[in-house]
Amino acid sequence: MKEVKIEKCPFCGGEEFIESNVSSMVSAVCVAKSELRRAVLFATVCRDCGSVVRIFCKTPENLYPKKERKE
Ligand SMILES: [Zn+2]
Repeated sequence: MKEVKIEKCPFCGGEEFIESNVSSMVSAVCVAKSELRRAVLFATVCRDCGSVVRIFCKTPENLYPKKERKE
């Protein structure tokens, strides 16, 4: 998985971020090939204004294994 660097909050310009698990609220669900797959979601939250700058999944392979890609 590629590394994403967030330098600044696009909303307030803040530079401090908190990474938090949001799995209690929502799970990413992929309905591919009639299978139900789940992966835990995480959010990067700006410490200054509280905006969710990024929401992401740490295990995208769980949703869409590499062998299924059409590359
Ligand atoms: Zn902010």
